[in-house]
Amino acid sequence: MTSYDLDAESAESDSILYIDLNAIRINYQLFCARTAPAECAACVKADAYGLGLERVAPILADAGCTTFFVAHVAEGVALRELLDSVRIFVLHGAWPGNERNLFDYRLTPVLNSLAQVNTWAAFARARGELIEAAIHIDSGMTRLGLDENDLKVFEADPGQLDGLSVVHVMSHLSCGDEQDDAMNQVQLERFQRLRRKLPAETASLAASAGLFLDPKFHLDMVRAGIALYGGRPTAREPNPMSEVARVRARILQVRDVDSPRTVGYGAAHKVAEPSRIATISVGYADGYARSLGSLGRACIEGIAVPVVGRVSMDLVTLDVSEVPRDKVVEGGFVDVIGGGINLDDVAQKAGTISYEILTRLGRRYRRVYLGSGS
Ligand SMILES: *Cc1c(COP(=O)(O)O)cnc(C)c1O
Repeated sequence: MTSYDLDAESAESDSILYIDLNAIRINYQLFCARTAPAECAACVKADAYGLGLERVAPILADAGCTTFFVAHVAEGVALRELLDSVRIFVLHGAWPGNERNLFDYRLTPVLNSLAQVNTWAAFARARGELIEAAIHIDSGMTRLGLDENDLKVFEADPGQLDGLSVVHVMSHLSCGDEQDDAMNQVQLERFQRLRRKLPAETASLAASAGLFLDPKFHLDMVRAGIALYGGRPTAREPNPMSEVARVRARILQVRDVDSPRTVGYGAAHKVAEPSRIATISVGYADGYARSLGSLGRACIEGIAVPVVGRVSMDLVTLDVSEVPRDKVVEGGFVDVIGGGINLDDVAQKAGTISYEILTRLGRRYRRVYLGSGS
């Protein structure tokens, strides 16, 4: 059972971020079921998309996840300290200077360039042992990864890979969230052609959006991120994932406005009719996007109300005229993300994506983890 009852510490808090670990487990299991027999790896970079690596990663491992992706070496080190026996890929790869940490914490770098291959292979040869690596092929993002010319270097001189055991080869789709985009097929074909130039054990191409792509995109592994955290994996399909994050903010003050007035910075909102304005305890410092001014919505006891005026650092104003008086109580809480306010709708109104909304949630919330995940 998921309970949003206030515990003692929450009763002292002005804003609360609930993170439903049970929903993360359910999302992982749903993802696995839909992409099997491909393996489902979990992307837990950026503190598990802002939701807390320390709590999220063990739940995923317990749900059966044995392969994790992080971006930075430091994230890999933190993850290794939580989970001893899983495979951890580090997307940003190997650099002169970080090889020691990669090796000591049994992190597998995703090598993105010839220079990274050389760095890691030289480290392996200096140790006189075979060391694992993944290799990133650029199939169309033009961001990270080896391109066709880089791979020709290995064809000409296969010795460059000496010392490396290439356990995985990957690439990343630029339009994966649009299942009909021709770019997906172009990237798949390019990846399949280029990966044959490498002696890799397994391959991956798709991220969360792979859930809605043809199984031919799943290859050996799908790298799930946002879907595990409740975000909609594609632009078009209804979201099959369970809600994970819920942000609630306290109602600090409710005012009756009976004469024409303006609300907030820039006098941006004008009150014409007699209205009630509630001021709540969340702002852009908490990751509530400033772009949601006059566009966002909150939910009070199941009733949606509009954000009026600009979003301040610590405060947001709502027009609660439509909500019965006894339901808008000073000291009570309203939902601003989740709990009736859909994460992807918030992102769309803010002019961004759910990923950015989640990863920008601030440090000021009291964080309450719900569900043991079992
Ligand atoms: C972050 C990331 C993913 C996960 O992407 P989602 O869209 O969140 O599923 C997969 N692969 C790579 C290379 C990534 O950087």
